[in-house]
Amino acid sequence: MTQRFSTDVLIIGGGAAGLSAALHLAAHARVTVLCKDGMDAASSTWAQGGIAAVTDPSDSLQSHVADTLDAGAGLCDPDIVRFTVENAAAAIEELVRLGVQFDAESNHYHLTREGGHSFRRVLHVADATGRAIIETLTERVLDHPNIDLLPDRVAIDLINLSKFTRHANRCAGAYVLNRSTGHVEVFQARFVILATGGASKVYLYTSNPDSSTGDGIAMAWRAGCRIANMEFNQFHPTCLYHPHAKSFLISEAVRGEGGLLLLPDGDRFMQRFDSRLELAPRDIVARAIDHEMKRLGADCVYLDISHRPKSFIEAHFPTIASRCFELGIDMTREPIPVVPAAHYTCGGVLVDRYGLTDLPGLYAIGEVSCTGLHGANRLASNSLLECLVFARSAATQVRERLHDPMPEVAVPKWDESQVTDSDEDVVIAHNWDELRRFMWDYVGIVRTDKRLQRAQRRLDLLRQEIHEYYSHYRVSNDLIELRNLVHVAELIVRSALSRQESRGLHFNLDHPESLARAEDTILFPGFSDRLDVLRPVAS
Ligand SMILES: Cc1cc2nc3c(=O)[nH]c(=O)nc-3n(C[C@H](O)[C@H](O)[C@H](O)COP(=O)(O)OP(=O)(O)OC[C@H]3O[C@@H](n4cnc5c(N)ncnc54)[C@H](O)[C@@H]3O)c2cc1C
Repeated sequence: MTQRFSTDVLIIGGGAAGLSAALHLAAHARVTVLCKDGMDAASSTWAQGGIAAVTDPSDSLQSHVADTLDAGAGLCDPDIVRFTVENAAAAIEELVRLGVQFDAESNHYHLTREGGHSFRRVLHVADATGRAIIETLTERVLDHPNIDLLPDRVAIDLINLSKFTRHANRCAGAYVLNRSTGHVEVFQARFVILATGGASKVYLYTSNPDSSTGDGIAMAWRAGCRIANMEFNQFHPTCLYHPHAKSFLISEAVRGEGGLLLLPDGDRFMQRFDSRLELAPRDIVARAIDHEMKRLGADCVYLDISHRPKSFIEAHFPTIASRCFELGIDMTREPIPVVPAAHYTCGGVLVDRYGLTDLPGLYAIGEVSCTGLHGANRLASNSLLECLVFARSAATQVRERLHDPMPEVAVPKWDESQVTDSDEDVVIAHNWDELRRFMWDYVGIVRTDKRLQRAQRRLDLLRQEIHEYYSHYRVSNDLIELRNLVHVAELIVRSALSRQESRGLHFNLDHPESLARAEDTILFPGFSDRLDVLRPVAS
C-alpha cells in the first residue's frame, strides 16, 4: 500500500538553501522538507570559511561584483551577480535575526580574506560557519508548526503531470524512498523546490558529504529541464591527505591568514604559477598542485601555517587544528599534508532569478542550480550566499503564486509489481567505485579529448547495466544514487566534450586557449531519451 502525503510546498533538501526557503514560506504555506539524513549529510554543515558580503565601509559592492566576474572567466551573468551581491547584506541580517552569531570584535564583524577577493569580506563563525548556520536554521525549522522536516527520505523522481495527461506540463511532487521502511511514498505538492546540493561525489576524491550525488540535477533532467555548464567542477586545492580522514577540508582561510604551500622538500612553488601566489583562484592553485604532484610522483603537497603564533592558529582554526591533532598532525608546529579534491558543482539546473526551472511548479536553489552567479568558476564563499539569496527570491515568487489554480490529476502509485529484491548488490558497489575512479582519472582537473571520449564509452556501458538493474530490482538508496551519478557523469562528459576551449575550471590540454566569445553550455532534455529510464508507474 503506497503512502501518500500532500503539502503546499515540498522542499527536497535540508541544507542552507532548503531550510532557509522553508522559513521564508512557513508563515504562508504548509511546508515539507525532505532530507536523506541529519545535518551532517548537507555540504552546508561542512562549510568552514564563511559567507562573502560587503559589510566594511572601505569595501564596495562594485568590488565584490568585479571579483565575482573576474573569477567566472567571462561566463557569469552580470545581472545575477549584481542581484546576489546587492542582496547579501539582507541575507546576513536575516541570519543574525534568526540567531547566528558571526565572529566580531569591537562592534565590527571579523572578516577573513579568501582567494580571488580584493578585500577582507568573508563573515565567519570561527572555522565552523556552516555548522553554526545549519544548527540555527534547524532549530527554527523544528520550532515552526507549519514545517515538517522528514529525514531518511530519498527522492527518486519528480512527478511531471505531463507523463499522465496531455494537458498539464507541471511538477506536482515526487516519488520518495522512505529509508526506514524501505517503501516508496508519494508526496504531492502545489510547488516543489529542489535544494539537493551538488554532485561532487561523482569523483573519487571529494570534500563533500556522501549525499552529494547530484540527485536534483538528474531528477530535473529526467523531468524535462535544461541543465547548464556541467563541465565546471571546482576542485578544492587543499583536502587533508591522511588514510583515516575521509573528505576533510583545510579551509582556504588558512592560506588567507598566511599559510604557505610547500613541496615535499620544503620549497614554495606557487610563484612559478601565479603572481597572487597561495591566494590565486582555486582552479589555478589546484592545477598547480596537480602539476607538481604528477611531476614529482608525490602523494601530496604541504600547507604550512606554523610560522603564525599557536594562540592565533588555535583561535582561528579550532576545528581544523583539533581534527589534525586527532590524526597526529600538530598544525601549530608542522605542515599539513594536502591534496586537491572535487568540491563544488558550478553548473546545474538552469534557473532564472527566482530559481524557476523550465518545468512549471519546479524551483531549484543552492548548489543544484545554475543561476549564472558562478560562471566558469565560483568565487570562494559566494555559494552559501547564493543559497540564502535565491531561497528568499524563490520563496517570494512561490508565495505570490500559492493560490493560482492548479490542474487536478490523479498521480499513480509507484509500481513494484515487476521487480524483485536484488540478489547481487556487489554490482552496485562495483559500479560506484568504477564510475568515480574513471571520472577522477579522465574527467578530472586536467582533461584531454581522448580521456573524455574514453570516459564516454565507459559511461555507455555502465548506463545500460544500471538501467537493466533498475528495471528489475527494488530501489535502494545506493541504486538511486548510482543511477543519478551515471546521469550526472554523462552530463559532465557531454558538456566537457562540447567545450572546444579551456576556460575557468575546465582545462583541456587539446584546447588550451580560451575562445574570444564566452558561451554557456546548455543541454536540452531532447537527448534524454537515452537517459530517461523512469520506472514505469501504473495506476
Ligand atoms: C567542506 C566544504 C566546505 C565549504 N566551505 C564553504 C564556505 O566556507 N563558504 C561557502 O560559501 N561555501 C562553502 N562550501 C560550499 C557550500 O557549503 C555549498 O555549496 C552549500 O552549502 C550548498 O548548500 P545546499 O543547501 O545547496 O546543499 P547542501 O547543503 O549540500 O544540502 C543538500 C541537502 O539535500 C539533501 N538531499 C540530496 N539529495 C536528496 C534526495 N534525493 N532526496 C532527499 N534529500 C536529498 C541532503 O540530505 C541535504 O540535506 C563548502 C562545501 C564543503 C563541502
